[in-house]
Amino acid sequence: MKATTARPTQWPIIAKDPASFRVPPNLGEYEEVRKSFTWDQARRELSGLPGGRGLNIAYEAVDRHAAGDRSGREALRFIRSDGGTHSLSYAQLASQTNRFAAVLRQLGVGRDERVFSLLGRSPDLYVAVLGTFKNASVFCPLFPAFGPEPVQQRLRLGAGRVLVTSRALYRKKVAPIRGSLPELRFVLLADADGHPEPDTLDLTALLAQASPDQDIAVTQPEDMALLHFTSGTTGTPKGAIHVHEAVVAHYATGRYALDLHPDDIYWCTADPGWVTGTSYGIIAPLVHGVTVVVDEEELDIDRWYRILAEQHITVWYTAPTALRMLMKAGAERAAGHDLSALRFVASVGEPLHPEAVVWGQEVLGLPIHDNWWQTETGGIMISNYPSMPIRPGSMGRALPGIDAALVARDAQGKPIIQDGEAKLVTEPDTVGELALRPGWPSMFRGYLNEDERYRRCFAGGWYLTGDLARRDGDGYFWFVGRGDDVIKSSGHLIGPFEVESCLMEHPAVAEAGVIGVPDPVAGEVVKAFVELQRGQEPSEELRLAIIGFARKRLGAAVAPRLLDFTTDLPKTRSGKILRRLLKARELGLPEGDLSTLEQAGPRP
Ligand code: ATP
Ligand code: MG
Repeated sequence: MKATTARPTQWPIIAKDPASFRVPPNLGEYEEVRKSFTWDQARRELSGLPGGRGLNIAYEAVDRHAAGDRSGREALRFIRSDGGTHSLSYAQLASQTNRFAAVLRQLGVGRDERVFSLLGRSPDLYVAVLGTFKNASVFCPLFPAFGPEPVQQRLRLGAGRVLVTSRALYRKKVAPIRGSLPELRFVLLADADGHPEPDTLDLTALLAQASPDQDIAVTQPEDMALLHFTSGTTGTPKGAIHVHEAVVAHYATGRYALDLHPDDIYWCTADPGWVTGTSYGIIAPLVHGVTVVVDEEELDIDRWYRILAEQHITVWYTAPTALRMLMKAGAERAAGHDLSALRFVASVGEPLHPEAVVWGQEVLGLPIHDNWWQTETGGIMISNYPSMPIRPGSMGRALPGIDAALVARDAQGKPIIQDGEAKLVTEPDTVGELALRPGWPSMFRGYLNEDERYRRCFAGGWYLTGDLARRDGDGYFWFVGRGDDVIKSSGHLIGPFEVESCLMEHPAVAEAGVIGVPDPVAGEVVKAFVELQRGQEPSEELRLAIIGFARKRLGAAVAPRLLDFTTDLPKTRSGKILRRLLKARELGLPEGDLSTLEQAGPRP
């Protein structure tokens, strides 16, 4: 089916200084790289464990540098709430993570056993992730703002053996449910300060006693390393299994999608409770030997601009939800901050509307490069890679080593399979389900305890992502919507993203969420929920003006027929608009799994 709306016209946008990128500086060279790239070559560029045995993420991320001339380089730089910093060099990170592995071994926690965290972004969290890999155990990070229910659900599903947490989080969220988790043997308190709670251990004391010379356990590329729960945007979160070999993809995508180099000061704003915060907040940048800045606080607009300027951030990886907040706050908040060190900004997690790309260029001095991936893919798959001309609103092109395609769907939305092969959409600008040819190293190896669900993700030789997209004649992919969010109205297929992007171009609109609601004539009609810019008051006149604005741009068939003002669009804790919840509330249906719903509260 053809997409119904025109794509934005203000493209392409070129990065500030394409010559500053060390990855291929033009599309032609990039195509050459795509042709010659092999995962084996990327694998060879990593070292593997000494002696050629196995592959371990922590070795590639930490010890490889600690053993060489970068040992004294700052690996992690934490920004405390008072703005002060605390750093760990690669050498210090190597010995602290050795100690953590030694603690696990001493407790009798072994290979494949699950180590969970429920902890703010403090050094102990990062040491625990990498130390767990060194012990060949499996790490599962939980987002610290989860309530007791989602914590219990995930610890139980993942059979957590160890939990690393803080005293306050333990008291509030874990102590009340501890009795229901018989498999949880050890709770390590990062801030016990010599006085652990009953039935817990003092992590600092254990680390101090442990040996910094613990050998790294030999792991094979296919050994499980990480368990990551998805964001729960479409329903109950799934536990995606990732293996040590994923590091090969983190390495390659860190180079081709983020242009990471050892002299970079890099900041990824995602919490390690989400996959972006581990793949690109820990593994990829450390593998490239960069200095990773970690903000221990939550999003605060002035603080963020200060960090970008004062820490001389060169590469910044963030998300549309955060960018929308900065945009809402106004460009004047950026004034007076020297952002000249910044050379590349990327975004992931949700569609990045064209307004944001242009805003980046005007306010940060750099356009924002969107890229696309999922918890399941483990790493970036499609990207506006650094020096590529950006087409605002597009997710970019497939990265080297990634074979992406669009699979044709039947009237019921099922992939069309002919002779065992999926039928691909070949005509430009035609919608299909975004699919990837399996075989890249960071691909998930299963959903925990859900084999059937895992199998259903594959058909006709492809991994089906559940997202709908189109591709233009030059290979740029354009996000249309999640399979479940797409609206069918009078024979048109309408992606909520394009309608939301258009609404956000109206000067009074700050944010918008769009759903389809049943209609006896059209099947479905488009309904928009709109948050206004600060200083704007809802009124009938404004409502009609916004609908009129959208109608002019999108046409009557696609523009919202209905529009409600709201002050609080429901979002997941990873910042995604929960359209399924907007829809359930609109239709009076059960609200479904809300374990990742961000609770309403003051926003910066
Ligand atoms: P769940 O699978 O539990 O419903 P989720 O899909 O939101 O939640 P994640 O793995 O965190 O969980 O998110 C991946 C999804 O986020 C993608 O499938 C896509 O729908 C959306 N997404 C990520 N990046 C982009 C992007 N650049 N443009 C558009 N959508 C994106
Ligand atoms: Mg998903």
